[in-house]
Amino acid sequence: MSVFKDYKKEIMDATHNDRIRVALSRAITSYRKNVDNALKRFPHTIKMAEEVREIKAKAAGDMEKLAQQACEVIEENNGKAYIAKTSQEALDIITGLVGKDKLIVKGKSMTGEEIGLREHLEEHGNEVYETDLGEFIIQKLGSRPMHILSPAIHVPREDVARLFSQIMKKDFPPESDIATLVGAARDFLREKYFQADIGMSGANVVSADTGTLFMIENEGNIRLATGAPPVHIALIGMEKLVPTLGDAFKVAEVSWRYANYTIPAYVSMVSGPSKTGDIEKVTTYGAHGPKEFHVIFMDDGRTELAKHPVLRQALYCLRCGGCLYECPVFAVTAGHFGDRYFAGVGAVWAAMVSKDMEKAASIAYTCLTCGRCKVRCPMKIDVPEMITELRKLIAESK
Ligand code: SF4
Repeated sequence: MSVFKDYKKEIMDATHNDRIRVALSRAITSYRKNVDNALKRFPHTIKMAEEVREIKAKAAGDMEKLAQQACEVIEENNGKAYIAKTSQEALDIITGLVGKDKLIVKGKSMTGEEIGLREHLEEHGNEVYETDLGEFIIQKLGSRPMHILSPAIHVPREDVARLFSQIMKKDFPPESDIATLVGAARDFLREKYFQADIGMSGANVVSADTGTLFMIENEGNIRLATGAPPVHIALIGMEKLVPTLGDAFKVAEVSWRYANYTIPAYVSMVSGPSKTGDIEKVTTYGAHGPKEFHVIFMDDGRTELAKHPVLRQALYCLRCGGCLYECPVFAVTAGHFGDRYFAGVGAVWAAMVSKDMEKAASIAYTCLTCGRCKVRCPMKIDVPEMITELRKLIAESK
């Protein structure tokens, strides 16, 4: 029962937090405007999203096969690939690869967040730097992300200035402009990329036929984190797999357009360690980029979830965050309405992947089942249908 009590307190406190309301209302206005403009400019995205739903629905039923295929291709490309049945297996594989006392630069990864990857690495004596600016702020605040794409959406610039003054031993007045703060983070993190032993990432989508990871971003931190250190390790939920490179391009384009990146600054595609054939046409691994490339595909309840006729829709989620900007509960609570993932999809994830029925129940019964999210969702994920089904399961499970 304490889960319910804690959750109720957390969510009620959030609703009385004016900073959340102000930050979210600004973000919602600009998100809607930007996405509507992007869809006007690239109207084919709407049709393409329908195609992507079909691709994801089919791939969800074939995850094990696709993971196997991707592993074989990555090994052919001179990388190393692994399938982890559980989150513990994934953590064990990563611990075995990383060891201890390493410097690690990390790109934002919801799958990493799901299994507490950063905390795990730190407990094993490693120094870990989140490199996504929002994620870096959250790490240094000792807080948790409040949005899929903008983890520090609830932190105003004055708080960032105070935080940076503490950690960078330099005075940033509360009225510092945002560009100054961004520049400070850039200077602070820059040398870490080149000192790091390991770079870690997730992926937005992976094509099984070529073993290619697509990573979409604007900041350039993922390029550096996965390009500069000698080792790149990627942890990827198996729901990110699609059959072909062509499918992956479609998933990527729909994802970024609904994620408010009309055109993202960067899309990195990585299929293996760096290599060159420039001397006598002899392929040699370990050129300018990483010498080692390791990919862990994690199941952890996903193949089970794919068997459920209604709840499997949660696997189609592109993590674009669009639904969150439409949700009336999220607008006043931010990520407090959720667990590792937020809102309706977060409830399904808590029940079926994290296996935390109490947490799932808390979220499922906060959901208003109004369906506004479904209208915005490029995958047309029917959250009210999933929540109704989930409440049934919760009642049956007592
Ligand atoms: S449920 Fe739909 S709108 Fe929400 S993050 Fe996933 S794909 Fe985007």
